[in-house]
Amino acid sequence: MIRFRNQLTTMYLFKTTTDLSRHLEKVRRAGKTIGFVPTMGALHEGHASLLRQSAEETNCTVCSIFVNPTQFNETTDLVKYPRTPEKDIALLLDTGCSVLFMPDVVEVYPSGQQSSLHLDFGYLDQPMEGAYRPGHFVGVAQVVKRLLDIVQPDELFMGQKDFQQFAIVRHMLTEMALPVNLKMCFTVRETDGLAMSSRNMHLTPAQRALGPLIYQVLSQAKANMHDQLPAALKLTAMKLLSVPGMEPEYFEIVDGRTLQPITIFEGHDMVVACTAVRVGDVRLIDNLIMKMS
Ligand code: AMP
Repeated sequence: MIRFRNQLTTMYLFKTTTDLSRHLEKVRRAGKTIGFVPTMGALHEGHASLLRQSAEETNCTVCSIFVNPTQFNETTDLVKYPRTPEKDIALLLDTGCSVLFMPDVVEVYPSGQQSSLHLDFGYLDQPMEGAYRPGHFVGVAQVVKRLLDIVQPDELFMGQKDFQQFAIVRHMLTEMALPVNLKMCFTVRETDGLAMSSRNMHLTPAQRALGPLIYQVLSQAKANMHDQLPAALKLTAMKLLSVPGMEPEYFEIVDGRTLQPITIFEGHDMVVACTAVRVGDVRLIDNLIMKMS
């Protein structure tokens, strides 16, 4: 265990599940509530908003930094995933985080990386990210379940930024009747609208300049939703995103609970526009809630 301190907080860093569990047992015995924010590091203000919300709503915020190998379908993506531990620790201290868990792969997967979770996600893992990243959500569910078993939090904070991931975790918690309260935190954006992401640091200045287009196109679809059907909005969005240097993989307008593409807006309590675009080697995802009642 290593202890870090600033004026705001004291934060403990644990690398093993045994040490972390022992510490959290004491926290629980003291009657404190535990909030959990799982991350893959290279932290930015998007992560910070989740951590701050957890620090406000619970007594002890635990952040994990673990670049989960089982959710990467491209090995090159895993290898080049940014790692900035010193910067991350400074940001965590600023958010009031109490515990940082930075395990090695063997700590998380002591019996190997093969998933023993046999969960039926229904249709949720089929479209969008599921179609472009085979196996990705099996890895996500596997690591979230494992980390929840270790941390046993009262509250779990996840970002709207990864909307499909959020829907899948919500489904898993319900299916397995796991006793944790899941909270969705809104997407934090750069001032020009680009959703913050650890991957943004891989963009060249020219690629970065294309970034705001994604949010502009999402916003335009939302602005036109009272005049056009989803299919027409999708077609326009795909055209607008097809500019030199940028290649849209999908733009879908889906029901916020089932993730099924919708044909009309009526009859859906929540509608979300979701997109993924490739900018050079960097894959960016974003979404916008079009309707929520
Ligand atoms: P990651 O480190 O990319 O696995 O993300 C960890 C958590 O932070 C996930 O719940 C993400 O949805 C969330 N997150 C990532 N980027 C943002 C953002 N720009 N705004 C809010 N939450 C975010």
